[in-house]
Amino acid sequence: SIVFLNDSFVPMEEAKISPMDRGFLFGDGIYEVIPSYEGMLVGFAPHIERMNNGLREIGIDFAWPVEKWREVCENLIEKNGRGNLGIYLHVSRGTDSKRFHAYPEGVAPTVFAFAFDIPAAPVADKTLAKGYKVSTTRDLRWERCHIKSTALLGNVMHFQHGFERGANETLLFNANNELTEASACNAYIVKDGVVATPPLDNQILPGITRFILLDILRKNGSIKVEERIITMDEVFAADEVWVTSSSKEIAPVVEIDGKKVGNGEVGDVWQAAQTLYSAGKHNY
Ligand code: PLP
Repeated sequence: SIVFLNDSFVPMEEAKISPMDRGFLFGDGIYEVIPSYEGMLVGFAPHIERMNNGLREIGIDFAWPVEKWREVCENLIEKNGRGNLGIYLHVSRGTDSKRFHAYPEGVAPTVFAFAFDIPAAPVADKTLAKGYKVSTTRDLRWERCHIKSTALLGNVMHFQHGFERGANETLLFNANNELTEASACNAYIVKDGVVATPPLDNQILPGITRFILLDILRKNGSIKVEERIITMDEVFAADEVWVTSSSKEIAPVVEIDGKKVGNGEVGDVWQAAQTLYSAGKHNY
């Protein structure tokens, strides 16, 4: 595949980064994944805004004009076949001469981007949808989960929890037995037709799929949405559970820790929400 590294497009095999890069040594960087279906990016502007917020928050002095990022993304899409792609963007604090924790002065950030295949967007039909299985475990990540840091070991270990149990994702709960999110997705419950998802704070990533979905649902008005604290007892008693991410859109969860969610089938509210999402996502 053709990738982007520090201002040039090169074959993946030719993209080389120093082992002294702080992204490698410290996981010191910010990343994004933007979905693109047949050449159309979803949520481009909010994704770039979130990345810039992250860079600002960790003190990396780097902000390209949005148009420059769009050019990089569109070039990657064209050079990699225009299919269903996740566009990965990564800015690390750069390569220093020594391994020293403090932010270095005068070091240029490393910019890397590549495209990878993602599944076709889900078809909003509950008889065709793939039902997800998830495990649950205590959320043991740091208290800055709103930053999309490239330091993903906490998320990796949480994902592995589910993977080892034959699950597709892992739902996470905090010390108060409250749902936070999943290892690489935001999380939702549906009870009596009402969709609920945890509020934005330092415990979760402000997902762009979450933002788009809540905006679409609120503007449409046919499904009620709440952002509020959700206990794990509510999760286990829910009619439906969903997880969302850029590469999955809305994924219906049918089993948690081996127990059925609701009747164990993909739900009607999922189908209604995914229908609205499919119709509205390209406005973002
Ligand atoms: N939460 C975490 C921890 C993630 O890593 C991701 C995405 O990878 C999400 C939520 C979903 O975010 P988005 O909808 O922007 O892809």
